[in-house]
Amino acid sequence: MGVSTIAQNERLRLVEVDRLTSAIANGSDPVLNSVVSMLCGYFQVPTALVSIIDRDYQVFKARIGMEGDRTPREWSFCAHELHLDSILEVCDTRQDWRFAENPLVTGEPHIRYYAGAPLVVSPGLSLGRLCIIDHQSRPVLDTRERALLANAADIVVARLKSIHRQHFYDSMTGLPNRKRFEADLHEGHAFEGQTAVFIEPIAASAMDGLVKTLGVEFFVQFMLAVKEALLAAFPAGARLYRTGTLSFLTVMEHCEPALLHARLDTIVAALSRPLYCGNVPVFADVGISVLQLGVEADASIDRLRLLASMTDAARRSERRWLGYDPLIDAHLRRSTTLLNALEGALIATDQLCLVYQPRIDLSVNRCVAVEALLRWTHPALGPISPAEFIPLAETTASIRGITRWVMRHACQQLAAWRADGLEMVVSLNISALDLTDGHLFDDLTRALRDHGVDPRHLELEFTESVLVTDFDLVQEQLQRFRSLGVAIGIDDFGSGYSNWVYLRKIPATSVKLDRSLLANLQPGSNEWHIIRNLVSLLRDLRLTVVAEGIETDLHHHLLRGWGCDQGQGYYYAKPMPATDLATWLVKGGGRPTTVF
Ligand code: C2E
Ligand code: MG
Ligand code: MG
Repeated sequence: MGVSTIAQNERLRLVEVDRLTSAIANGSDPVLNSVVSMLCGYFQVPTALVSIIDRDYQVFKARIGMEGDRTPREWSFCAHELHLDSILEVCDTRQDWRFAENPLVTGEPHIRYYAGAPLVVSPGLSLGRLCIIDHQSRPVLDTRERALLANAADIVVARLKSIHRQHFYDSMTGLPNRKRFEADLHEGHAFEGQTAVFIEPIAASAMDGLVKTLGVEFFVQFMLAVKEALLAAFPAGARLYRTGTLSFLTVMEHCEPALLHARLDTIVAALSRPLYCGNVPVFADVGISVLQLGVEADASIDRLRLLASMTDAARRSERRWLGYDPLIDAHLRRSTTLLNALEGALIATDQLCLVYQPRIDLSVNRCVAVEALLRWTHPALGPISPAEFIPLAETTASIRGITRWVMRHACQQLAAWRADGLEMVVSLNISALDLTDGHLFDDLTRALRDHGVDPRHLELEFTESVLVTDFDLVQEQLQRFRSLGVAIGIDDFGSGYSNWVYLRKIPATSVKLDRSLLANLQPGSNEWHIIRNLVSLLRDLRLTVVAEGIETDLHHHLLRGWGCDQGQGYYYAKPMPATDLATWLVKGGGRPTTVF
C-alpha cells in the first residue's frame, strides 16, 4: 500500500470514527460496558477496553481496569496494524521489540499481555480495537477464544452503528439532536452547573407562512444558514444541538452573568444580520431562553419543554433572551399534570360533565337551543376551566377523546330529554383538530345512531381558526355534516381572523358574535357601529346571528333592536346541569317572562 493510499485511508477512517463514536460519551453506553465486563470475566483478565483510535489519541469508550479514558495514540497497542483487520496478540510484551520500550509496558499499567480484535466497519477500515490486557504474560489464545473476541468486537461495531442510527443525529443539519442532548444530560452529568442556551431563530407560525410561500427547500436552507451563523458566533469546539423542528441548543460553561449576557448578545447579533437562503436574504426573529442546568428547575421537569415555553416571551423582550422564571415553571408543571390526568378523566365517571347554556330567540324570547359546555373537576385540583384544559388538550391527541366524550354524552342527554317530552337543539364545540381528522364524521353518526337522535337536533360550533388550516378539507367535512342535517355554527366571530371570503364559502348556518365585542358597548362607541353593521351584513348572508355574552338589559335591547336573531349570556341564564335546565324551562325560561 503506497503512502498516499494509507493517508487517504486514514482520512476516511477518521471520518468514520467521528461519525460513529463522537456522540458517545466515554463509559456511557451500558452495552459496551457489559461487553468489556464480560471479557474480563471470560478471559480472567484485569483489563478490557473498547479503544477508538482517533487522530491523536486512543479513547476508551468502555473500560475496565484502566486509569483515565485516553492515552496518546503513539503509545497505543490498538493502533498497530489496524488496516490488517486481524487480531493482534502479544503474549509477552517484554519479548516483543515493537512494545518492549512502550511507556505502558515500562511504566503504569505495566502491560505484559495484550490481545485486540479490530472494530471493522468495512474491509481495511477499523475504528480501533476491543482488547484484553493482563499484567502477566499469557499463552496464545486458542481458536475458540479468538472467535469469541472477534465476535465481541462485531457486537461492539453493531452497537456503535445502531446507537448512531438510533436518531442521535439530525439528518437535515448533521447536528446532534434532541435525544443526544437528553442522553448527554442524563448519562454524563457533564452539564451540571452549566448553562443551557435554547435558540429559536423564528416563531413556528412565521416559518409556516414562509414555507407556504417559498417551499420546504427554503426551510432546509434557512436551518443550515442559522446553523452556520451560530457556529461562527460560538467559541471553537462549542457543541450545537438541533433539539426540535425550529430550535437549536448549546451548553455554555458557567461564567459571570456579565460575560454570559455578552455571549447571548453576540448570538442575537449574529442572527440579526440577514441569512442567505439560496439567494434570498431572510431576517430571523430570534428568541433565546436560558437555564442553568442542575440549579434551576428540578431534575424531574422536562428542561427542553421549559426552555421552549420561554422563547415566545424572550422574542418579545428587549434583548431577545430571557432567563429562567419560576412562574413559567409552575405553569408548565400544572399543564403537565393536567395533560397526564385528562386520559383518566375520560374514563372516570365523576370528573367530567356537561352543562348547558340556553340560547334565546330574541324576537319571541324563547329558548331555542342550548350550548353544551364541558366541566372538569380534577380529584385534587378541583374545578378546571375549559379555557385552560381545552387549549392544552388541543396540543395533543387528547382533544379527540374529549370531543368523542362530549358527542356521546350530548346525544345521550338529547335522547333523555326527548323521552321526557322535551325537543331540544344542542350545539357542541368542535376543535380545529377534529375537523382535519377523518374520524369525526364516523364518531358523530355512530353517537347519533346509538342514541336514536335526529341529526337536525345537533349543531357543531367551531372557531374561524379551523379555516386557516386546510380549507378544502374542512369545507368538505362540513358539507358532509350539512347533508346529514347537522347545523354548523361559527363561534367567537370578530375575535380573530374574521375572513369574509371564507365565510361566504363555508356551509355555515349561524354565526356567534364574540362576547368581547359586547364588553365596551356604549352609545356611539366603535363597537356600537361595528356590531350594528356586522349583524346586518351577516343577516344579508342568510346566516342566523347569535350574540354571545349578553349580560345586561342594554345588550339585550340593543341587539334585539338591530335585528340579531338570538342571544346567549348571563342575562338570560348561566350554563347549568341538565336537570336544572328542565326546571328553568318549566319556570318560564322558555317563554316570555318578566325577566326579559
Ligand atoms: P365558547 O364556546 O365561546 O363558550 C362560551 C363561553 O362564554 C363559556 O365559557 C360560557 O360559560 C361563557 N359565557 C356565556 N355567557 C357569558 C356571559 O354573559 N358573560 C361572560 N363573561 N361569559 C359568558 P366556558 O364554559 O368557560 O368555556 C370556555 C371555552 O371553552 C368555550 O368558549 C369553548 O371554546 C371551550 N369549550 C367549552 N366546552 C368545550 C367542549 O366541550 N369542547 C371544546 N372543544 N371546547 C369547549
Ligand atoms: Mg362555543
Ligand atoms: Mg364563543
